[in-house]
Amino acid sequence: MKPLLTETELLSGVARLAAEIRSSYRGRPLTMIGVMTGSVAFLADLMRRVELPLRVGVIQARSYRGGDTRPGELVIHSELVPEVQDRDVLLVDDIFDTGRTLTALVERISELGARSVRSCVLLSKPARVEVTYRPEFVGFEIPDRFVVGYGMDYLDAYRNLPYVAELEDVDLHRDQRP
Ligand code: 5GP
Ligand code: MG
Repeated sequence: MKPLLTETELLSGVARLAAEIRSSYRGRPLTMIGVMTGSVAFLADLMRRVELPLRVGVIQARSYRGGDTRPGELVIHSELVPEVQDRDVLLVDDIFDTGRTLTALVERISELGARSVRSCVLLSKPARVEVTYRPEFVGFEIPDRFVVGYGMDYLDAYRNLPYVAELEDVDLHRDQRP
């Protein structure tokens, strides 16, 4: 595995995003919704730095992709989403990859009656994007590589790494399932 972003780099990126979010909402109450499970570490660090009246909830999105490039069917579990009617909502996700997940989630939250829906992602892979939607807040742009750590997994492993690393071929072929 090749380290890509150190803990120090991650936390300074998080601090920068928190400052951008705070100045953008100017003291208005915000509802932050983390996309499970990849955003857990990012959500925990970000929410503690956003100095606004804040509500926090989670939503789960899972895409079942075929073995090829077919776009997978996206399943959204919104049972744990707090009331968003007339609220300003910020979706928090780990990676903006093709962009399909976040596009669908923004639509879902809008349908629930939110006053505004924006999004904040830790990482973005500009080379992979397939949609016109773009997140308003982006931590780091990264190359088209599969990354793990700081909440992100490969076959359920590596979420607890405190930094972000790029998986190498040798890692892909080793069974690391916890
Ligand atoms: P999208 O719908 O933007 O293609 O998919 C975004 C989701 O795919 C992310 O929230 C994340 O769960 C997963 N994903 C995309 N790229 C990576 C990656 O490099 N590593 C990991 N662990 N998950 C990824
Ligand atoms: Mg995800």
